[in-house]
Amino acid sequence: MYKVAIIGGGVTGGLIARKLAQLDISMVILERENDVAMGQSKANSGIVHAGFDPVPGTLKAKLNVMGNQMMEQICRELNVKYRKNGALVVGYTDEDIKNIEILYHRGIENGVKDLKVLTREQVFALEKNLSRNIKGALYAPTSAVVCPYELTIHSIGNAMDNGCDLIRNFEVVSINKSDCYTIYSKDGRSIEAEYVINCAGLFSDKIAQMVGDDSFSIVPRAGEYMLLDKEAGDLVEATIFRVPNERGKGVLATKTVDGNILLGPTAVDRDDKTDKKVTAKGLEFIKKRESELFDEIPYNMVITQFTGLRAHGDKGDFIINSPVQKFINVAGIESPGLTSAPAIAEMVYDMLIEGGLEADKKENYNPVRPVVDLHYGQVICRCEEVTRAEIIDAIRRNPGALDVDGVKRRTRSGMGRCQGGFCLPHIVEILSEELGVREEDVTKCGGKSNILLSKLKGGIE
Ligand SMILES: Cc1cc2nc3c(=O)[nH]c(=O)nc-3n(C[C@H](O)[C@H](O)[C@H](O)COP(=O)(O)OP(=O)(O)OC[C@H]3O[C@@H](n4cnc5c(N)ncnc54)[C@H](O)[C@@H]3O)c2cc1C
Repeated sequence: MYKVAIIGGGVTGGLIARKLAQLDISMVILERENDVAMGQSKANSGIVHAGFDPVPGTLKAKLNVMGNQMMEQICRELNVKYRKNGALVVGYTDEDIKNIEILYHRGIENGVKDLKVLTREQVFALEKNLSRNIKGALYAPTSAVVCPYELTIHSIGNAMDNGCDLIRNFEVVSINKSDCYTIYSKDGRSIEAEYVINCAGLFSDKIAQMVGDDSFSIVPRAGEYMLLDKEAGDLVEATIFRVPNERGKGVLATKTVDGNILLGPTAVDRDDKTDKKVTAKGLEFIKKRESELFDEIPYNMVITQFTGLRAHGDKGDFIINSPVQKFINVAGIESPGLTSAPAIAEMVYDMLIEGGLEADKKENYNPVRPVVDLHYGQVICRCEEVTRAEIIDAIRRNPGALDVDGVKRRTRSGMGRCQGGFCLPHIVEILSEELGVREEDVTKCGGKSNILLSKLKGGIE
């Protein structure tokens, strides 16, 4: 029996696991997909928000500001890329400028440091390509960018290096409570745990219902994006927002931590929690809104589009509570959830200790995920300059990649201009060698997503 089972291998589950790995307890992360970071933590804006947007007094406000302050150190320890590029909320009208003043005061109340209201001239001194219609902006220098799936993979890897187990393809379908919790998967497996932490993102309402808690529901709210090649990277340095409205922070533009330009997201509710299609309507909407931010955008440099689904809760705030003994909900963790995740981990740790979890600290706990010194010889992905050694490391290292997308998220191979056109066959070959499976059994993202059907040369088996 495990002491703690965490349902969901996203960034909140990952950072909670990393925090709890300080304790001398047995722990497991249960993830329904073939890899970690497959939910919201895979497809989002990657912004470490400063914290001027959430309503003061909410968990979102408190944990956002705290998480922002913790993030740089955590990224250093976990060897995760982090860039403090700052954020601007730009306004066009007198009404916008009034709202920017309101955001400024809200930010001060939330404890955000170094906020400034900038004049038009000061804005253009920072960002020369912004639309000349802009009248002023709020400037938040503490805003930053990270790679959300890198943070998730490295935090779960670090928890695993400190003794945490990870079970993939374990879709939790029911939970039984007697002396402890018995958690059942769709394919008939089960594990036992004394404590359960529900970090199941879009499905956290379903997990809560399994222990009799139907106090909240989660709606998928789609955010569509366009990603521009790194060559367009000098369009903007900071993250650029419009003044937010009731549906969120609106369409933004940012330079990702890897140097691409990210445009989006939309915010449209969908009926299906797995519906990640990109729509022509969504892309048109992004273009329209972005044309208000910039006079010119090089859309010929778009290399891909994607959709992330927000786990939008019906309570207007993060839902972090314990509806039944030894069971904790970490639900409704939409934006600024990535930023808040380190602080959420602290909060959940305190709740467990205050709730009676007794354990010694591990003497050999290591918060650092070290950089591995690899032999860099053969380049496999030419666009992103990823070597064979890096790909092998991504497969061998906790939590090891089991499929092509897993290698992609860990190394960026296939994320460049050719989107895997050159490197895909080589990655399939390396996965096959490393995992000891046939090339035909290597998948894109688990399940039945096989890439090769059969061999042409050498005969069809
Ligand atoms: C479009 C968009 C933009 C965003 N932008 C930002 C931003 O810029 N900055 C910011 O701070 N935040 C942002 N967010 C919010 C942020 O992405 C989330 O708050 C954060 O990723 C939540 O992480 P999580 O671990 O709670 O959930 P998830 O990452 O969704 O993880 C939940 C995990 O649970 C697994 N799971 C689900 N059901 C089961 C089951 N039955 N059994 C086992 N496993 C299960 C899923 O497969 C998944 O891996 C954005 C979100 C979206 C969608």
